[in-house]
Amino acid sequence: MARFGMCAALVLLILPGGGCVTVVSSRGASGQGPVPGDSAVEHGPNCETLQAARSMTSDIFKSDVLEPVAARRDLTTHEQIHLVDVVIHDFSSDIFRKDVLVLLARNPALSPEGRAYLVDNLKGMSSDIFRSDVVEALQEERAPRTK
Ligand SMILES: [Zn+2]
Repeated sequence: MARFGMCAALVLLILPGGGCVTVVSSRGASGQGPVPGDSAVEHGPNCETLQAARSMTSDIFKSDVLEPVAARRDLTTHEQIHLVDVVIHDFSSDIFRKDVLVLLARNPALSPEGRAYLVDNLKGMSSDIFRSDVVEALQEERAPRTK
């Protein structure tokens, strides 16, 4: 809890007033190809958090910040895609990628487009064991839920 508090404070320090609307695609030139989450057209309220996480160097802090976002019920399709981009491109280790993506996979708000984008980007993970955790979570979500 204390760590999360510190983390939240960190986010506030990092966030400039403008939020992610000011972010223009700069990754295309770096040879990584187009990143749809960077398109800056339909950024949602959760995008600020996504951009803030991006500036963190440690996967531990990134996942601390992004896990609650991945589980949000009001996540838009753009935010789902943006989240996948951040997790795949800006995390350095699959174990933390898996933690966030499993939550997104289980999120009832995951749209068909978000789901397809997530599946398509699983190739961005290098280890099969963590990738299969995400696939299992996607299948769980599809199964009828017991409340
Ligand atoms: Zn966005």
